[in-house]
This record gives sequence, C-alpha cells and structure tokens, in this order.
Amino acid sequence: MKFFYMLVVSLLVFTGCSQKPVIYYETPNELTDEQLKTKFIETYSPYLKNITFFIDPGHGGEDRRNKGSKGLAIEADVNVRVGRALRSFLQQAGAKVIMSRDKDTTVALKDRSLLANKSGADIFISIHSNAPGQEGDNSTNYTSTYYHATESDYEYEPMERDLAKYVQRDLAYAMRNSGGLGSFDGTYSDYHIYPKQGFSVLRLTTIPAILIEAGFHTSSWEEPRLASEDFNRVEAWGIFRGLCRYFKAGIPKISYKDQSFIEKTQLLNYSILDSTSIDFKSIKVFVDSTATQRFTFDEKQKTITVQIPKVVNEKKTIRIIAANKNGNFSFPFYDVVTDTLSR
Ligand SMILES: [Zn+2]
Repeated sequence: MKFFYMLVVSLLVFTGCSQKPVIYYETPNELTDEQLKTKFIETYSPYLKNITFFIDPGHGGEDRRNKGSKGLAIEADVNVRVGRALRSFLQQAGAKVIMSRDKDTTVALKDRSLLANKSGADIFISIHSNAPGQEGDNSTNYTSTYYHATESDYEYEPMERDLAKYVQRDLAYAMRNSGGLGSFDGTYSDYHIYPKQGFSVLRLTTIPAILIEAGFHTSSWEEPRLASEDFNRVEAWGIFRGLCRYFKAGIPKISYKDQSFIEKTQLLNYSILDSTSIDFKSIKVFVDSTATQRFTFDEKQKTITVQIPKVVNEKKTIRIIAANKNGNFSFPFYDVVTDTLSR
C-alpha cells in the first residue's frame, strides 16, 4: 500500500514536472485557415503595397538581459520573432520591409534611428516587451503602444497617434490583453515614461514612428506565451491587421502646388488629396512653429492657401496638418520657403 502511494505521488511529481506550462491564447481564424488568410491579405494589399516599413526588434546581441523570472522569454528573442513574422505578413501583402536586425545581433540605440532615417522607409515600428517598475512584480501585464511627445508640443505628430491607435487595438485584441489603466485606449505618449524627452528611439527617428510594448515578459502568465513562436505569430498578425486597417482609412496627402503675390503678401497654395474628404476643422497651419489662422481651404479645388508676408532674403517653414473624415491625419508635411524668386 505504501508503495502504491509512493508510485502515485512520484507519478504526479513526474508528470507535473515534465508538463509544459499551460498557455492560453486564441489563433485568429484568418491565421489558422490558409484560404481566409490569403483573402485577408489580398483585400488589404492595395493599401500596403506601396509602403516601406522599418521594423526594429528591440535589444539583441550584447543586450539580452531582459527576461522573465522562469527564464523562458528573453525579450531580445521575443522581439525578433515577432518582427520576422510581421515582415513575412507585410511582404505577402506586397509591402517593402527593412529591419534593424533580423537575428541576434547588437545594434546601438542611436543607430536604429539613423538607419531608419536613411532607409527611405515610410513608417518605423519598434517592437518590445515590457517590465514593471517594481522588482518582483510578476502579475502586471498589459499591451501598450507609444507615440512621441504630447499634443501641446510642436514635435507631436497626430498621425503617429492614429497609427498607434490602430496597431494597439488589433494587437491587444489578438493577445486578449487590456491596454492598462494609464490610458483609455492603450496608447501612451512616451512622455508618460520619460517626461519631456520620451524614448530616444522615437525622438531621434524622423520618419513617423511608434513603439510597441506587446506584453510583460515579467508576468508569470504572459512569459510562457511570449516564449512561444506560435504566439509571437499571433502578435505579429495583430500588428499587421492594425496596419492594414490604418492604411485603409486613408492618409491625406499634402503637396506644394503654386504661389502668387499680392503686393507684399505671398499666397502659397498646397494640394491636399485623400480618398475621403478633408475635415476642415482639423487643419492646422504653422509658420516657423507658430500656429497661424491666415489660411483658407477650398474644398472643391482641394487646396489650402496660406498667406505670409513676402519672403525676401530669409527662410520660412510652413507646416500643415490635416485629417480626413475617417479621422486619419496627414504624414508630416514641411515646406521651406527660401526665396520668392526661386519658386
Ligand atoms: Zn525593451
């Protein structure tokens, strides 16, 4: 009898030890069904095929210290697996993809931004997993997406927040995570972490940029999920789906058209095009970083006309921001007016 109990106990111990941790996630239908996946990618390919993405899996190489307490999820590896899966989905949709690293190599923080700025890419996406401020906290877990600066700062780009919102919504949904309690929609300004500075990788990157903190590798519940390559594919699909929907909602395209002069006033005309109409109330014009009301919008001609004093022997920077009826803001637009004669 004693032997029987010992057998049961040792069996329990043995099976308990040999079992992999139970991990909970759902794979979206479009990922399990190859036909649905192809159809989904085909539907969104027209919106993505002319876009170049710069994917930046955080850390790696000499920087492998961030990991969960079980040692299962090493952040550097999680990030690169998610990044590679995202690259694959984007490429299947016809988009171009550049990566700061696609294996376990060291890339300095500054170089990630420099590479992105020189790459000619349209969008920069940095992929990370998170850790709490308090040591030993193994329960905090949520999905968050960061954009640079806050609304009152000149360097704030509202389109970065649009992009963050779309990616955040679909990624959090795919992971079945909340967006945390520090924000209503799971998107955060990087000033939330580093006031008035933000993340260096977002501050130094001049192309539109967001940073994803997909989940907490320190969470005992999240760690085994992040360690699973299948789950990393689900994460990548969430990001991909957010990008698909963001680009489908359209992005207003602003470009210099022509100009005219009335005595000492210079009238600069800019075209603004979008698949939907432009929301007049959303238009903001800056002259040398100061907001101006001296502009008009012709909805039929799709033209914004900015009035400034005639520029002679000086330089003025015009910046225009506008959103379409879906609420999506334009990509950063700056026009440097150097000399009236040269234009
Ligand atoms: Zn990180």
